[in-house]
Amino acid sequence: MSYYCDKYPIIEKKSISRDTFSITIYAPEAAKAAHAGQFANISAPGFTLRRPISICEFSRSRGTLRFVFEVRGKGTEAISRLNVGDNLDVLGPLGNGFAIPDSARRAVLVGGGIGVPPMLGLAKKLGDRATAILGFRDYSRIILADEPTGNLDSTNGNEVMSLLKELNRDGATVVMVTHSEENAREAERIIRMMDGYILTESKNIRVVDA
Ligand SMILES: Cc1cc2nc3c(=O)[nH]c(=O)nc-3n(C[C@H](O)[C@H](O)[C@H](O)COP(=O)(O)OP(=O)(O)OC[C@H]3O[C@@H](n4cnc5c(N)ncnc54)[C@H](O)[C@@H]3O)c2cc1C
Repeated sequence: MSYYCDKYPIIEKKSISRDTFSITIYAPEAAKAAHAGQFANISAPGFTLRRPISICEFSRSRGTLRFVFEVRGKGTEAISRLNVGDNLDVLGPLGNGFAIPDSARRAVLVGGGIGVPPMLGLAKKLGDRATAILGFRDYSRIILADEPTGNLDSTNGNEVMSLLKELNRDGATVVMVTHSEENAREAERIIRMMDGYILTESKNIRVVDA
């Protein structure tokens, strides 16, 4: 297992929900060595001990590693203040990562809250062989759940849509980002966007059996 310790430039930073940030660095050697489920020890500016954060996603072709973390204390708070152009001091990839036998035909990935990001790399590797079941403490903390049926076959996609409709019936507001016309037709309000701009906004009148 090879690992690296260096300062890597932050090329993207996003706030993705309350107190949760996504940071992507350009670290080609580390990205080449990374496997789904591994983590890195990240230095928090001003602190001696590094903070372990899972590798959420890696791209060998782009040479990038992505971390998603929640601000829990002073260390993660210091990391969250870094911005694009700053360097992130990273030791990794570390740990064994996920071992999935080649014979596995289907996998169900179950994760909650900040336990979700480490599964993204695995979900991408498994593609439509994986069904992800994600849980969050409250609606303001939902992360990485857009395109809910994007990688699923129609049976599993329909199951996910039924669960979302059930949540909606129970009083939850569901905001869904999708390219699927069929899924969009289930929504009460549809906002069509392109290149970050709103194209149209409409109310969806659905005929419900009496
Ligand atoms: C293998 C691994 C992967 C992780 N992946 C993620 C992730 O992807 N996203 C995410 O948001 N969080 C992740 N965590 C939890 C994250 O490491 C802690 O939330 C973070 O270290 C808290 O640091 P802090 O300074 O903000 O908090 P503080 O509570 O102020 O930290 C105080 C001290 O406790 C240590 N510490 C605190 N929590 C942990 C912990 N869970 N494990 C080990 N040491 C800890 C810190 O290193 C520090 O020395 C992971 C933890 C582990 C062990």
